[in-house]
Amino acid sequence: MLVKYNDIFDMKTANIKNILSEGVVHSKVSLKGWVKSFRSNRFIALNDGSTLSNLQCVIDFEATDEALIKKISVGAAIAVEGTLEESQGKGQAIEIQVSSIEILGESDPETYPIQPKKHSLEFLREKAHLRVRTNTFSAIMRVRAALSFAVHQYFTQNGFVNVHTPIITGSDAEGAGEMFRVTTLDGKNPPLNEDGSINYKEDFFGKETNLTVSGQLEAETFAMALGKVYTFGPTFRAENSNTSRHLAEFWMIEPEMAFFDLNDNMDLAEDFIKSVISYVLENCKEDLAFLDQRFNDEEKQKPQAQRSEMTLLEKLKFVTENNFKRVSYTEAIDILRNSKPNKKKKFDYIIEEWGADLQSEHERYLVEKHFNCPVILYDYPANIKAFYMRMNEDGKTVRAMDILFPGIGEIVGGSQREERLEVLQERIKALDIDEKELWWYIDLRRYGSAVHSGFGLGFERLVQFATGMGNIRDVIPFPRTPQNAEF
Ligand code: ATP
Ligand code: MN
Repeated sequence: MLVKYNDIFDMKTANIKNILSEGVVHSKVSLKGWVKSFRSNRFIALNDGSTLSNLQCVIDFEATDEALIKKISVGAAIAVEGTLEESQGKGQAIEIQVSSIEILGESDPETYPIQPKKHSLEFLREKAHLRVRTNTFSAIMRVRAALSFAVHQYFTQNGFVNVHTPIITGSDAEGAGEMFRVTTLDGKNPPLNEDGSINYKEDFFGKETNLTVSGQLEAETFAMALGKVYTFGPTFRAENSNTSRHLAEFWMIEPEMAFFDLNDNMDLAEDFIKSVISYVLENCKEDLAFLDQRFNDEEKQKPQAQRSEMTLLEKLKFVTENNFKRVSYTEAIDILRNSKPNKKKKFDYIIEEWGADLQSEHERYLVEKHFNCPVILYDYPANIKAFYMRMNEDGKTVRAMDILFPGIGEIVGGSQREERLEVLQERIKALDIDEKELWWYIDLRRYGSAVHSGFGLGFERLVQFATGMGNIRDVIPFPRTPQNAEF
């Protein structure tokens, strides 16, 4: 456990979470927070972000200045002092009988957008600087933070070393997606080569650079010295995909383990996901109960056939209590080829032959209709996967694995990495990648190469699953998507 360095927190005001769990009746308290609602000129629902619940503050109407009462409105920041008492009203066990109140910052009731009523998620996205003041978004963001903590805790407790891989990368060989260029060249008047192309030798780094799409290649170098490592940082993809599961800037968790083969990798990924979900089930009970209610209300709006069979909490428990189904790509293709939507040509992409890339409609069919549980697909055809994945003995498939989740689709993409120098060089050549770009990556196969594996898990997709939110834009503080970088 971490200990407090000094008593700075005790010197500050208490918070509502602690008062609700351990506050003593008749004791004196002082609190600061924001007004969530104000009724009958007497009852303030105060929230300070420490917990979902508000604390009712009852002001003495007669003893309080009328001008001051006028300034209490939804959204205002206030400081109160008073005594904790058992509440007379229903809805709360304790409340504060306020002895003094100070308005720290007024809030204009005419223009404040976050009124105590239901707002649409679309509306709130346009007010992303204020949406975290709603119950829904404060709950999501606390769960997000708890998940992030659980990630670091899981890896630290299991002997992994956290690595901060670079955000700016000079290699565009990763092949994971379209990249954002990083440059200080003058866009209107860039230095040119004789053939008219841009001369990046004159750019800041003396070469073309981009924002990273993955920390994997660098993480591999560290795994080959530190054994088990992980990165957890921002990644960027300039894909023009306006889906509910893609962001242009998202956070990725990428463990990389020396001496792990694909089976070890799948075992780790499954255990890791179960562990962090268990952590929030245990530590975010109030927020998850609220999000569960919200999820179930949303589901009721949908036509029967599209409704989730499980509540959010049931879904989370299901994942922690059941084994993920492991299925080879080849088996999956057989299932899909013989499936009803394939035969009736209901899929947009009909599966005809082995080798076809799986679209999200196929992934969803497998997870949501056929298996009805999380699925790990492995051993994909080499030509639909990246160059660094380990070739199987059949010469056709690679030791790749994707984890597919109900309602989310792909949550993890990983593989055993090709550790054999010649095989890797051949693959790089076959895919027409410039070997010179990857000299340091290839070097790992020259000096003490070993079987190793890793995966990438999109943190926001995990948060989506844990919170039951349908759109990835609602689980990151300020989403970056095509045509949108406000805030
Ligand atoms: P998808 O097929 O869903 O676009 P991908 O195959 O491009 O994903 P990978 O390159 O394997 O994804 O990245 C690893 C993980 O990162 C994915 O399993 C997913 O959880 C997450 N991820 C990938 N792209 C995005 C994105 N644009 N926004 C949010 N998360 C993403
Ligand atoms: Mn993938």
